[in-house]
Amino acid sequence: ILQVSGLHKWFGTLHVLQGIDFSVAAGERVAIIGGSGSGKSTFLRCLNFMEMPTSGRIALDGTPLGRASAGKPDEVRYPESELCRVRERVGMVFQQFNLFPHMTVLENAMEGLVTVKRMKKAEARERALRELDKVGLGNKTDVYPGRLSGGQQQRVAIARALAMEPEILLFDEPTSSLDPELVGEVLRVIRQLAEEGRTMLLVTHELGFAYHFATKVIFLADGVFHEVGTPDEVLKHPRQERTRAFLERFT
Ligand code: ATP
Ligand code: MG
Repeated sequence: ILQVSGLHKWFGTLHVLQGIDFSVAAGERVAIIGGSGSGKSTFLRCLNFMEMPTSGRIALDGTPLGRASAGKPDEVRYPESELCRVRERVGMVFQQFNLFPHMTVLENAMEGLVTVKRMKKAEARERALRELDKVGLGNKTDVYPGRLSGGQQQRVAIARALAMEPEILLFDEPTSSLDPELVGEVLRVIRQLAEEGRTMLLVTHELGFAYHFATKVIFLADGVFHEVGTPDEVLKHPRQERTRAFLERFT
């Protein structure tokens, strides 16, 4: 579904992503682990162009996105219309939920359908209700986010992403800002999505969950994919010393 080659990202003089080659096939579930500041969020944000890659190519279904400037293949320009289409196909769920506080749960879940997909209100409402039901919030549709627990807010954010019917879902530490007793309800929803065979990328520190969830685990360090493999290979039998040292901090 998604192909990345030679991805670099600089913030000023900081070289965060230093040449990443990566692809995701339909139905794959990739867990990304790595230390704080290693670039995990930046990587996800580049995939749906919330951050612009400094160089490298990203392709969806084999079609490279953006257009290289004549004579400068490294300089890629991305027309806004194309980025909108990509963001419809690549959904994202954030650590901090990012719900609109002045909108009800239902309005939040409908937002993208109405503004981005230009769907009729009645149809958007129906689809949003369906997704809210699925995450167990069918009875909270008229409530404002401020009245919900963190776990409930995150489930609204997941329903909002699902309503757009993305081909890939990106989760950036979806449980890190939750109280421990609320983590389970969000992980349950993500597990349910896994059982449906959805294609997902998950940045997480929940290594136990990652082990059962992922078809592939990536350890990001020094701006590159330091180690890539099955959950068993990376989490239980890492070959790189660096990966081992990272994992030891969690045990
Ligand atoms: P964490 O586990 O703490 O979420 P991370 O792996 O997600 O960390 P990133 O948020 O991707 O790390 O940040 C990678 C590096 O890039 C950090 O040093 C960060 O300070 C820097 N950075 C991120 N976003 C920006 C930005 N918009 N401008 C400048 N520097 C940035
Ligand atoms: Mg991050």
